[in-house]
Amino acid sequence: MSSAAELPAAHEDGDAHFLAEIRAFLAQELSEDLREAGKRTTGFHTEIAAAREWHTRLYRRGWIAPGWPREYGGCGWSVRRRFLFEQECARNDAPIIFGTGIRSIGPLMIAAGTAAQKARYLEPILSGEDLWCQGFSEPGAGSDLAALTTRAEIEGDFYVVTGRKIWTTGAHLANRMFALVRTARAERPQEGITFLLIDMDSPGLTVLPVVTIDGEHDFNEVAFDEVRVPIANRIGEENHGWAMAKQLMRFARSNNTTTGSLRRAWRLMEREVARYQPGPDFALRMTEVSIALTAMEALELHLLAAGRLDGEDEMASSLMKTTATELHQKIAELALEASGPLARGSEHGASGAPQMPLATRKYFATRAATIYSGTNEIHRNIMARHLRQ
Ligand SMILES: Cc1cc2nc3c(=O)[nH]c(=O)nc-3n(C[C@H](O)[C@H](O)[C@H](O)COP(=O)(O)OP(=O)(O)OC[C@H]3O[C@@H](n4cnc5c(N)ncnc54)[C@H](O)[C@@H]3O)c2cc1C
Repeated sequence: MSSAAELPAAHEDGDAHFLAEIRAFLAQELSEDLREAGKRTTGFHTEIAAAREWHTRLYRRGWIAPGWPREYGGCGWSVRRRFLFEQECARNDAPIIFGTGIRSIGPLMIAAGTAAQKARYLEPILSGEDLWCQGFSEPGAGSDLAALTTRAEIEGDFYVVTGRKIWTTGAHLANRMFALVRTARAERPQEGITFLLIDMDSPGLTVLPVVTIDGEHDFNEVAFDEVRVPIANRIGEENHGWAMAKQLMRFARSNNTTTGSLRRAWRLMEREVARYQPGPDFALRMTEVSIALTAMEALELHLLAAGRLDGEDEMASSLMKTTATELHQKIAELALEASGPLARGSEHGASGAPQMPLATRKYFATRAATIYSGTNEIHRNIMARHLRQ
């Protein structure tokens, strides 16, 4: 979605006015309870009630889809404006929306969906009525995604889907899923994959929670037992879903500024430091990480503005993914260390579930950052391939 743009100057005409508008909006709409919920965020999105409420407020203001074109209800902002907006929200601890619809499937539908799909699905994504999850990974298909085996066979006007997906973030919250299914066996495993839109309340579809070591429930296993999906719910051609998935991943990366989440993690760490006041050596390490964070923000803005994070430039997006996620982990490690022995928390709370302080939950959540969206090893393979060429 991002278009090639001029390299950013330190300031641009209209920046001050734009920032003033954002700040006025945040002062008006970011209530104390939403801000507190934003501060408690450790994973992909803030606790769901606050994430939904913030989504609604952004939607009412017309700011829910910064990267979408205006004709589809987006802001049509330049990448620079999207970056400023995200940074301002992060600096004010705004909640993080449950954003798969806005960042991934919405942009793909705009680019490759039929008129009927756009008419049916885009507005509920904007309003927040529909929440989407991503059904790609399977027990035997992660890094090697093309090994997926969930199959779909045509029966009349339907595909009949049978198989299993795993690590499906938010499947227990979402009412819709986009999924990759196998519709043919071909020489290249990437061929014979089809991209489908599936209603989560379809008969035969079961969501099984996967609870992680920190006691959180973010992802799930999803079982399909002869789930009927209308053929009209296919995006792109049958057996050409791989290209759709690649395009979606490009959108997901380009519609999502990364350093906003690092800035949020940094603020969490600063709050831990203020509470527990670690020793002087710690200040030195904070300074080093702070410099790395500022450099990362400058790099992201530069690459965004140069149109190099639109997914076409694999080297730039892999570099950004690996560097940002590893920095995210460093910040979370500092937060954990800052909270000292209290980081351990109590083994069990009143409910019997482990009670972990925020810094500890953040630490665990960021361990996953080098795994999802392509593991860092896979991204390093990509970079190595480019360097060899
Ligand atoms: C928090 C979180 C949320 C997720 N959400 C979703 C979701 O919503 N929907 C979804 O579909 N999936 C989701 N995933 C799954 C994610 O995409 C996969 O975990 C990821 O692709 C890795 O696959 P895997 O877990 O099967 O590991 P594997 O692919 O089995 O990899 C195991 C290890 O081997 C390494 N490895 C594998 N192949 C190579 C290679 N060729 N060269 C070097 N090293 C290699 C990997 O880097 C890794 O360290 C999520 C994962 C996490 C952690």
